[in-house]
Amino acid sequence: MSDKVVTRFAPSPTGYLHIGGARTALFNWLYAKHTGGTMLLRIEDTDRERSTEAATAAILDGLTWLGLSWDGEAVSQFERAPRHREVAEELVRLGKAYYSYETPAELEAMREAARAKGLPPRYNGQWRDRDPSEAPPGLKGAIRIKAPTEGETVVHDRVQGEVRFPNKDLDDFIILRSDGNPTYMHAVVVDDHDMGVTHIIRGDDHLTNAARQTVIYNAMGWDVPSMSHIPLIHGADGAKLSKRHGALGVEAYRSMGYLPEALLNYLARLGWSHGDDEVMSIKDMIGWFDIGDVNKGAARFDFAKLEALNGVHMRKMDDHALFDIFVATLPYLEGGPALAARLDDQKKAQLLAALPGLKERAKTLVELVDGAGFLFAERPLPVDEKAAALLSGEARAVLRGAHATLTAVSGDWTAATAEAAIRDFAQAGGHKLGAVAQPLRAALTGRSTSPGVFDVLAVLGREESLARIADQID
Ligand code: GLU
Repeated sequence: MSDKVVTRFAPSPTGYLHIGGARTALFNWLYAKHTGGTMLLRIEDTDRERSTEAATAAILDGLTWLGLSWDGEAVSQFERAPRHREVAEELVRLGKAYYSYETPAELEAMREAARAKGLPPRYNGQWRDRDPSEAPPGLKGAIRIKAPTEGETVVHDRVQGEVRFPNKDLDDFIILRSDGNPTYMHAVVVDDHDMGVTHIIRGDDHLTNAARQTVIYNAMGWDVPSMSHIPLIHGADGAKLSKRHGALGVEAYRSMGYLPEALLNYLARLGWSHGDDEVMSIKDMIGWFDIGDVNKGAARFDFAKLEALNGVHMRKMDDHALFDIFVATLPYLEGGPALAARLDDQKKAQLLAALPGLKERAKTLVELVDGAGFLFAERPLPVDEKAAALLSGEARAVLRGAHATLTAVSGDWTAATAEAAIRDFAQAGGHKLGAVAQPLRAALTGRSTSPGVFDVLAVLGREESLARIADQID
């Protein structure tokens, strides 16, 4: 056996890839990348009633958007049912499991009786030691594992530490139902073993399952993988994560204009840290991540922090890379499709040229759509209220002068030539620079805030700039 690390992400396709699932996938992916191992993907679609194709597609799409790639084909758990059955029957042959024949009503009565005695409602093991020849004829029976009755089952968890479960609390749980279908508990163990998974990293809501699954591993004589149960994400107020807190599918984060890299950075830092480093590239995370460093305490999700971090990533990002992500994300962003529809080559060039100024003022790609709006606006521009206030009678007179000055600019039309002309004009007329720049900005963008006004002039070009200014002085 090689020492290569094999992790897996094993979502149940009953809904979108939510933010907690994305973090579990990220930790599996980072650990695999950090150790030079692989991450596998298994779709836990054994529950036929709740699993849907659409959910599977949404999960794959979410992982792909985040760049959390898996190795090989995704495995369908449901398709492996014959193998789950085979192992369950093998356990019966080995004397480690047995058939039991209670009807649902009998099981309910058993639980009632236990409750009446103040005991936990557990299976009483009545078929455990009976001879199979006593089985009621014609009935198939469910297969139950013979759980140990004394001592304890210990889960050696790299996040939670050593977690001990008294065996008297574990009953002989079902591994194969009487209809021949495996239980979730059993399927996970058989799949993880067959897929060669060396490290299980998942939410700590699965910690008690780890004890039961250990019983199955031991019964088969299989090695128990390394276990890491990571704390769930809570809201900023410490309560369980709800929609309001950000318990949304990752596609909602795409629509809100977060960059995959920023979201991954934020999720990685939820419950894990590397010194004081807040801003990390994917490469940094891969280099620094170790599952053993994840905290035991619940992590708190905070939108304000995510947004601030996203702004930092946007400003740091190379303009061409940001441009590509922005254009690819446009269809999902509020106001994005309208922009995408008008993104011809000229607009693309303008957008790229304006990006350095635009990204200084945006924390998300949605804010970038908003900021870039002036590039796409049609004359005469709609002017918002604050901008209208900058276009008072006096300001219009200044604007008229600025228009004449800019019209006279000969040679190249650049931010530098425009700036030189406007500065000369302001000085000659005894105006403060702002008294010229503000109405100019309002006329050029219809807004009171924008990238630097000289950059705006350069990006829009001579003809469009002069026309927009003229629209406000006539
Ligand atoms: N399918 C389970 C879930 O979505 C995960 C099981 C596991 O990781 O072992 O929560």
